[in-house]
Amino acid sequence: MLNNPPLSPPLIKEGDNRMAYVGRFAPSPTGPLHFGSLITAVASYCDARAHQGQWLVRIEDTDIPRIYPGSEAHILRSIDAFQFEPDAEIIFQKDRLDIYESVIEQLHQQGWVYACQCTRKMLGSNHIYAGTCRDLNLPFQQQAIRLKVSDQQICFTDRLQGQHCSNLQHDLGDFVLKRRDGIINYQLAVVVDDYLQGMTHVVRGADLLDNTERQIWLGSILGYPQLEYMHLPLAMNAQGQKLSKQNLAQALDLNRIPELLQQAIRALHQPEVDLDTPAHMLKQAIAQWDINLIPHAIELQGSYL
Ligand code: GLU
Repeated sequence: MLNNPPLSPPLIKEGDNRMAYVGRFAPSPTGPLHFGSLITAVASYCDARAHQGQWLVRIEDTDIPRIYPGSEAHILRSIDAFQFEPDAEIIFQKDRLDIYESVIEQLHQQGWVYACQCTRKMLGSNHIYAGTCRDLNLPFQQQAIRLKVSDQQICFTDRLQGQHCSNLQHDLGDFVLKRRDGIINYQLAVVVDDYLQGMTHVVRGADLLDNTERQIWLGSILGYPQLEYMHLPLAMNAQGQKLSKQNLAQALDLNRIPELLQQAIRALHQPEVDLDTPAHMLKQAIAQWDINLIPHAIELQGSYL
């Protein structure tokens, strides 16, 4: 595997200067924050602070057609209202498209990516891409860009979910980094930004567990250090569906902050915190933070709105 030096240095340099713990909360503005997002925010924040680490916020807004009007403002208002304190200015991926394009160019020069003209219709119900366009040498303009994968087992040990493995060639095939409509795929943006922001730890919902091997694969090609992962159990609604914007999960009600915060801390099976100002409640949750108490399941018991 190629191991070329990365394009630009991380904000927090490797080696002596690399922080022991940098974590993040990286919501997509495809809807307002809901209770499931609050659980992720609380867990990533408490875990970072309990490790004397930094906590950053990044808005993942490359998928312009899926942006829900007003949701970005609601996310920023919520972070403020819950009194989370990011350690750096919030970054927006839509301002960083040049960086992702230059990484695609780097991968192109190294022979890791190729243009693909297959439409969704051509691929049909086949979820494993067969590499149809791998050797066609198509020009990059107006085509999807795919990353080559290889026939090897990629494994990682999640701090909650234990060992997780995938053979990307068997399970998925070469995957898209940039769509035909020019939109940079989440997989590329997340890997590049986690690296450039000096991230060491990822704490997020278990719905993203299956994306991790793809991200590890891409990161290893780019020579980025591997991250620690913790995938949290998901909050479900009364119909047994994960809370999501698609399932019309309720936006966090900013008039009920202490109650919601207490409920999120309970959902993570952490010791009780008193109803107080959000900053004080978070401080108490950090002091009592114990990941051994978090359920290892993929879904939380009980139902939420
Ligand atoms: N932006 C993703 C989401 O809102 C999360 C990405 C991540 O944490 O890696 O679901």
